Amino acid sequence: MPDDLLNSFKTGPDEKGRFGNFGGRFVSETLMPLILRLDAEYERAKTDPAFWDEMRDLWTHYVGRPSPLYHAARMTERLGGAKIYLKRDELNHTGAHKINNVLGQILLARRMGKERIIAETGAGQHGVATATVCAKFGLKCVVYMGAHDVERQQPNVFRMRLLGAEVVPVTSGRGTLKDAMNDALRDWVTNVRDTFYCIGTVAGPHPYPAMVRDFQSIIGTEAKDQMQAAEGRLPDTIIAAIGGGSNAMGLFHPFLDDRSVRIIGVEAGGKGVDETMQHCASLTGGRPGVLHGNRTYLLQDDDGQILEGFSISAGLDYPGIGPEHAWLHETKRADYVSITDREALAAFTFCCETEGIIPALEPCHALAHVMKIAPELPADHLICMNMCGRGDKDIFTVAKALGVDISKPA
Ligand SMILES: *Cc1c(COP(=O)(O)O)cnc(C)c1O
Repeated sequence: MPDDLLNSFKTGPDEKGRFGNFGGRFVSETLMPLILRLDAEYERAKTDPAFWDEMRDLWTHYVGRPSPLYHAARMTERLGGAKIYLKRDELNHTGAHKINNVLGQILLARRMGKERIIAETGAGQHGVATATVCAKFGLKCVVYMGAHDVERQQPNVFRMRLLGAEVVPVTSGRGTLKDAMNDALRDWVTNVRDTFYCIGTVAGPHPYPAMVRDFQSIIGTEAKDQMQAAEGRLPDTIIAAIGGGSNAMGLFHPFLDDRSVRIIGVEAGGKGVDETMQHCASLTGGRPGVLHGNRTYLLQDDDGQILEGFSISAGLDYPGIGPEHAWLHETKRADYVSITDREALAAFTFCCETEGIIPALEPCHALAHVMKIAPELPADHLICMNMCGRGDKDIFTVAKALGVDISKPA
């Protein structure tokens, strides 16, 4: 191994898909050939310039990349400490980072000659991104969504249907994201020949965690160049919210070997991690186990039963976390903290009022942590936070939390 990679955090996963003790391929024998075929095809695509040329062209003309790196001047002034930059991935087509990954997987599906795309979705953001790209390429799209989530997320269900997708309500288990992912995996095994499974975060069996990370790494790669252009150096702290961990992994990965850069992942603390079990903080409040084909930190009870997460933000509501985060946590290369619903809501209002940006509730968790640390840091400390989604989808939730009835005229 070359010297510069000897102590690198970027070499993982190994050939079995392991990041230290995490990740891997815990799948049934029927699924194994599909996973191996996907892995081989991804390895070929990864080194094919034509694949990345097509990707870059779509990122530019369809998604609207690069997303700006924006100096949040009023926010910086109000907090009175570190200089705050926001990576504006909420400006992407469909309003979040999800499409970066979906485009990559669907280009791969096209190379493999697959004409039917399946996906799981919780809040509906990944389902919408997948339905969008399928419409663009004329592919059949089936989205598995917990029956409970179908009820809670009607606007996104309608969006997916407008885009031509079939939304399948999943009633097994508790009818949430975890169950939707199980059903999608079952569908994949049954419809091997024409179907490609497009996973929405850095979870699942190898190669998904690494592949999704690679597609999302455009976030960190751009941020690094943009910070260099703006400040002539690296940021001191980078920070992102974590559901499964894909937007965070995308921001973090290009910086992993820049040891001067402090890396912070922010989990959803719901009603409080120490006081209650009503949270989604898999790393700060869970322990290792196996779910959806990989070993990672999970929310589980004493018998190893997976628990439902709880958060004001539907997009953070996953009981696991990508295995690479579990490894970065154990190696201490990254720090993981949690933020409560209440703190996230305060950050939401703060962001609207200081910067004229209505953020999604997910990145508000990262912002709430920025609000905690920035005042204590010197003015020349550079923070880069990923603004991974916009808030249009969340205004009803926020109104309810603030006690405002927006169905009636003011
Ligand atoms: C889906 C989503 C998330 C959570 O997913 P990650 O894989 O952790 O990035 C976070 N923010 C937004 C806006 C989302 O849509």
